[in-house]
Amino acid sequence: MSTKYIFVTGGVTSSLGKGIICASLGRLLVAQGLKVTIQKLDPYINVDPGTMNPYEHGEVYVTDDGAETDLDLGHYERFLDIKTSQSNNVTTGRIYFDVITKERQGAYLGKTVQVIPHITDEIQSHVLKLGQSGDYDVVIVEIGGTVGDIESLPYIEAVRQLRYNVGRANTLSIHLTLVPYLAAAGELKTKPTQHSVKTLSESGLQPDILVCRSEHPLDGTIRRKVAQFCNVDLEDVIASLDANSIYEVPLLMQKEGLDKRVIEKLGLETKPTNLENWIGFVEAVCKPSVAIKVALVGKYVEHHDSYKSIVEAFIHSGAVNDCKVEIEWVQSDDLTKENVAGKLEGVSGILVAPGFGGRGIDGKVAAVEYARINNIPFFGICLGMQCAVIEFSRNVCGWENANSTEFEEECEYPIIDIMPDQKDIENMGGTMRLGQYDCKLAKNSNAIEAYKEEMITERHRHRYEVNNNLRYKLTENGMKLVGLNPERDLVEIIEIEDHPWFVGVQFHPEYSSTVSNPQPLFVDFVKASLKYAKDNSLYKSLKNKSKKAVRN
Ligand code: GLN
Repeated sequence: MSTKYIFVTGGVTSSLGKGIICASLGRLLVAQGLKVTIQKLDPYINVDPGTMNPYEHGEVYVTDDGAETDLDLGHYERFLDIKTSQSNNVTTGRIYFDVITKERQGAYLGKTVQVIPHITDEIQSHVLKLGQSGDYDVVIVEIGGTVGDIESLPYIEAVRQLRYNVGRANTLSIHLTLVPYLAAAGELKTKPTQHSVKTLSESGLQPDILVCRSEHPLDGTIRRKVAQFCNVDLEDVIASLDANSIYEVPLLMQKEGLDKRVIEKLGLETKPTNLENWIGFVEAVCKPSVAIKVALVGKYVEHHDSYKSIVEAFIHSGAVNDCKVEIEWVQSDDLTKENVAGKLEGVSGILVAPGFGGRGIDGKVAAVEYARINNIPFFGICLGMQCAVIEFSRNVCGWENANSTEFEEECEYPIIDIMPDQKDIENMGGTMRLGQYDCKLAKNSNAIEAYKEEMITERHRHRYEVNNNLRYKLTENGMKLVGLNPERDLVEIIEIEDHPWFVGVQFHPEYSSTVSNPQPLFVDFVKASLKYAKDNSLYKSLKNKSKKAVRN
């Protein structure tokens, strides 16, 4: 069976959840025995989102191979339980970068280099590269942005050509659109969808299937109207109603027959659907027995997408613990030693988040101290771990002037320092310690208890590290360096003695949490927080409440 390509475009407005639809369709196909991957094409000019501010772009998702990518790749991995790589995320910036590099090398043999055919060819070659690997039955290609955007045009044209080149029977075009409800008229309106499909068709791309986002069910009349005016079969009009949890979407899409239509149209050979585990997980997410509060201390907390993978990892690990983790978003800029007790009142666990730069550091250090002294489960991730080391150096080791050279270049005790190989790097893009590295765990640690194996790998994204010249001071005072990178002897995990659960990790465990494989440290952190909540009567029982689905 040759690889099939499914192109997913979006119309009318952004934020319709194209990534979730792609991931949900992918999940349904995987559940029927198919090998699937998903690629995201992003029409912006940054080479990757690594240099973008979290307010602009949300979380930067890091793959095993160290690519800094769009957060939708996180959804793909979490839903499909697959690994993605640099090949799964292509931006306009990268396409132009590659074309211009080739032009400088003389690869175009004196030709005028143009959007068509050179840019569109380059886009096609990036898409085909995944298909030609021979690893997949289906490649789903999500095209970022909205149809009608100027910057989307080369992508739509590339898709048009690609469909022509690999044969229409091997490709499918799905368009995700909005059917808004006008309260004043008391009606659902199909005109925006009609216009969007018309714009797409003008570029030579006729959708085979329409997925219509809507706040209200689409009745027969609306479906017929959409089908007739958009030139698709009635059963190819798929309604996508708002869901309580993104993890319900695969089940809703199955009910609407999205996978069935895709399989029929592409002539895919499938096995009977096996969604048992998924259904069990959704039930656990929607009907937890208890709810606990866990603080997420960070400086981008107004923008929850900045911590997307952490939020999702809490949903996975909450389900394992039959517990809903309610995140208390705590702005680190506002935290002080004086107000920390008030601001963190009622939480059963404290997570200090990753980040860059000095803003909010004092607040994070105050949160660590509060967790340490009061025996509240603590989880520090990357910068959060570095703050835990700074706090311990200052308040336990007596090095009052300990700091990271990221915030204070000439500090007296640079307990966190730039890694030697990062010192002379000038370019910002793609130059951190990125991707997966090994970490060896010490016996008798919370970490090994969680992972249940000695050698683990996790993904990284940082320039600074625990200073190996000064780390003796930490161990002398009871900090345990329980995870080390064997090649470079870098500190990857710290814990402290005489605390129920205090773990800081230099890597990003949140990236590797999936529905099928919830991340072990998150699972154990939630377990410890749940215990703390029970011991301190801080949990809410949801047992006899109406079994309403949980919002995430
Ligand atoms: N700013 C810190 C560093 O570069 C931490 C990075 C992070 O939290 N991802 O090392």
